[in-house]
Amino acid sequence: MARVVQKYGGTSLQTTERIRLIADRVIRDQEQSSELVIVVSAMGESTNQLVKLSGEVSSCTSGRETDLLLSAGEQISSALLALAIQERGREAVALTGVQAGIETEDIHGDARITAVHTAKIEKELDAGKIVVVAGFQGCAGNQEICTLGRGGSDTTAAALAAELRADRCEIFTDVDGVYSADPRYISGAKKHTSLDYNHLLTLADLGAEVVHPRAVVHAKEHQIPLVVRSSFHDQEGTNIQHYDRAASPVVGVTFQNGFSRIQVSGEIEEKEILEGLTDAGGLLGKVQLSQRHASIMIKDEYVQEISLLLNKRRNAFGIHSIHHTEGMAAVHVVFGSRDEKRRLAPLLNEKQLVSSGDVYALECHPLVWSAVVPEEHAVGAAQELHDWFMEMESKKASIAL
Ligand code: ADP
Ligand code: ASP
Ligand code: MG
Repeated sequence: MARVVQKYGGTSLQTTERIRLIADRVIRDQEQSSELVIVVSAMGESTNQLVKLSGEVSSCTSGRETDLLLSAGEQISSALLALAIQERGREAVALTGVQAGIETEDIHGDARITAVHTAKIEKELDAGKIVVVAGFQGCAGNQEICTLGRGGSDTTAAALAAELRADRCEIFTDVDGVYSADPRYISGAKKHTSLDYNHLLTLADLGAEVVHPRAVVHAKEHQIPLVVRSSFHDQEGTNIQHYDRAASPVVGVTFQNGFSRIQVSGEIEEKEILEGLTDAGGLLGKVQLSQRHASIMIKDEYVQEISLLLNKRRNAFGIHSIHHTEGMAAVHVVFGSRDEKRRLAPLLNEKQLVSSGDVYALECHPLVWSAVVPEEHAVGAAQELHDWFMEMESKKASIAL
C-alpha cells in the first residue's frame, strides 16, 4: 500500500467550495489504496490578512504572539478539510503541527524543523484515517509554537514525508509543475516533466517560490520523490528526484527583487572585505570590476549593518569611497551542469543586458550566472534571457562555440 503525503497551498483552499473539492479528491486518492497524510496551508490570502491585523494593533512583526496568530490560519484549514472529509463518510483527523509531532528550533517566524515524532500520525493511519496536518508550524522544546517562514507548509510536508518514509510527497498548487521561469511573469515558460533535486533547490533558493527550498532539502536528504502538480486538474506535474543528467542545458531563469548595490573604491583588499561581509550575512555575490573598484550585492535588510561595517573598517579594507544604490534586482540563469555553464556563460556575457547591470559570481551556486539590474528591469531582463535560451534550445546544434 502506497503511503503518500500531499500538500495543498493557499490558492487550492481559497473558499469552502474549493475545500469540498479537495475533500473529494483526497477521498478518491485514498480509494486508490493509499495511506494519506495531507498538509494544508492557510486559506487564500488569510496569512497576509492575519499579518495585517497584527499590524493594526502592534508594531512588533515577529515573536511568540505573532506565531500563535499566524499558526491559526493553517489550523482553520486543517479542521475544515477534516470536517469536509468526515461529511463524505470517511474518517479523518485534523492535527496542529504540535499534535503532529513537529519539533522546531526556538526561533519565532523562521524556525527550522529539528525532529518529527510520528507516533500519533502512525496510530491514526493504522486506524484507517486520513490525517490532515496544519502546515507551517511546530513546537520548540519549551512548548512554544514557532512558524517556519513564509511558504513553510511545503517544508512541513517534505519533513513528514521523510520521517514517515512516504513513497512520495505531492505539492498541489496553482501551477501544474515547475517551469523554466515563473509563468505568471514570463511568457513562453516551459514545464519540466522531470527535474533533479539540486536544480529545483537552486531555482527555489534564487526566488522561484513554487516550492520552499527547505522542503527540497528534506526530500533530497531522504530521497523522497517530490511531485509538483495542479490542484485544479489531473494533468501530470513535475517529478523531482535524483537524475544524473539535466534534460536541457539551461534549467531556468529566476529573478529576485530587494537588493542594494554597494560600490567601493580604493586600494581594495577584496578577500578581507568578502570575509567580513560573509560573516555579517545577506551577501548575494560580488564582482570585482578592477583592482580599484568592487561592487557588492546585499539584501536590502542588511544594508545599514554592512555600510556601518565597511565604514568602521575602511582602513583595514583599503576603502576610499563607498556608494550605495537601492532598488536593485538579481536575474539568474540556472544551468544544467558546470559544463553547460562553461560553454554558454560567455555568450550571455555578450548580451546587451550586461551593460545595464553587473554580472555576479555566486560562490554558493556553481551552476548559476547572475546579473544585477534596476528593479524595474528585472522582469524584462528575465524575459530576454529566457527568450534567448529557448531560441538556443530550438537550434541547439547550430550554436557556434
Ligand atoms: P501555494 O499557495 O500553493 O503554496 P505559491 O504561490 O507559494 O503557491 O507557489 C506557486 C507560484 O509559484 C505560482 O503561482 C508561480 O507564479 C510561482 N512560481 C515562481 N517560479 C515558478 C516556476 N519556476 N515554476 C512554477 N511556478 C513558479
Ligand atoms: N500560510 C503561510 C504563508 O502564506 C505558509 C504557506 O502557505 O506555506 O506563507
Ligand atoms: Mg507556497
